[in-house]
Amino acid sequence: MNDGRICVSQIQHMSVNDGEGIRTTVFLSGCTLRCKWCSNPETWSPLPVEGRLPDGSTEVFGRFMTASEVVEEIRPSMIFFRASGGGVTWSGGGPFLFPDNLRILVTACAELGISQAAETSCNFEWDQCEDILAMLDFLFVDIKHMDSARHRALTGVDNGRILENIRRVGRLGVETVARVPLISGVNDDDENIRRTAAFVREALPSRKMELLPYHDFGRVKYVMLGMENLWHSFSTPSPERIAALEALIAAEGVEVVHYR
Ligand code: SF4
Repeated sequence: MNDGRICVSQIQHMSVNDGEGIRTTVFLSGCTLRCKWCSNPETWSPLPVEGRLPDGSTEVFGRFMTASEVVEEIRPSMIFFRASGGGVTWSGGGPFLFPDNLRILVTACAELGISQAAETSCNFEWDQCEDILAMLDFLFVDIKHMDSARHRALTGVDNGRILENIRRVGRLGVETVARVPLISGVNDDDENIRRTAAFVREALPSRKMELLPYHDFGRVKYVMLGMENLWHSFSTPSPERIAALEALIAAEGVEVVHYR
């Protein structure tokens, strides 16, 4: 195995929110987006970042690991994967930011027979990532806003390449769920959700969507990382509003699913 160093922000064992069954979620460092609501700013940098705790001590988020070290940390959970139908989920940050690293990890896990999923913004170079995507069993793709100018204002990039990559994912035949981070007054209007559902219906044969209501749990991280100036306050849609949007999605012929 090529054992170049890979910056891993966190490895979360026994996760049940990032795909089927019991999973190990590996958060790889580095992201090309800057979503204003992001709850994981410690994953933005492709390098480890230092944070300061309230007592003045410091904590480093992220560490360089070899691919072998990552796989060895995953391997003890294989018994749980087999018993539950689970596996590994590659997340971030943007797990496709360094495709050569991800390819090594995905190939190694495939050789062990581990089921694999990824959660991605789809803001990547298709030609560099297609072979990796084809090795996966399941994908979560994020759709943050259907209006490209709004998308750019909210995340720093427009959605042209993202939506085109999602169409390509649909043609690959990998089981895929489109996830929408749902934020009050930002993207939870009927028109945006209807357009998103219509896009999913046309682009993804699995025709599945999940709404992820905004939360502000990440605020403490901005404080610890000295990034408070980048924190934006948003509101969570009410349960009634979420139910209404889920009904709207279903009316568009798209199945609403819940992994979180
Ligand atoms: S894509 Fe994900 S990790 Fe990157 S900025 Fe947006 S929410 Fe944060």
